[in-house]
Amino acid sequence: MRKPMFRRLCLGITLAWGLFLLHPAMAGAALLQKGSTGAAVLNLQQRLTELDYAPGPIDGIYGPRTEGAVAAFQQAAGLTADGLAGDRTAAALRLSPDTFAPLTARTFWVTATAYCPCARCNYPSARQPSYLGYPLAYGIAAVDPAFIPMGSRLSIPGYGEALAADQGNAIKGAHIDLCFETHQKALDWGIRQLMITVYE
Ligand SMILES: [Zn+2]
Repeated sequence: MRKPMFRRLCLGITLAWGLFLLHPAMAGAALLQKGSTGAAVLNLQQRLTELDYAPGPIDGIYGPRTEGAVAAFQQAAGLTADGLAGDRTAAALRLSPDTFAPLTARTFWVTATAYCPCARCNYPSARQPSYLGYPLAYGIAAVDPAFIPMGSRLSIPGYGEALAADQGNAIKGAHIDLCFETHQKALDWGIRQLMITVYE
């Protein structure tokens, strides 16, 4: 169980969970678009912010505001304003061509603990959504953002796919905290040492 948490309030992310699961980066497309997540999106958002295109929070999730900022930039740069960030857009942003390359996968050992949306697991911030604004639910993982970038996808043996979308002051380094539907299921998970894959 995790210690008291101090999560930030919802950042207003409205991206549907389904987009994350279906996004084309899973197929290795060298293109960022609505639904893309991870470090490449962080780089894109950082650059758009520097150029005053206001892509919303720099959170590694390509939502409607990032898409709108890309389209506005493209229009100003004389590109097709389709909101899709590919090679030409990367070049116009003066980002290196491999910025939008297929996701890289890293595997490493972590300690995996568990929590649920209940007050005991989330004191004193119960009833708040995850750090990135998603409701706490199965498929959300709390991570140390210095270790695993927010918005990364995780593949976890015995759990399945998760989105690095939450943080906790007890979650540091090679430690992840996995959300379950109920407190009992979180207790059943216990504490496990696992080799996970991180896609960012
Ligand atoms: Zn709980």
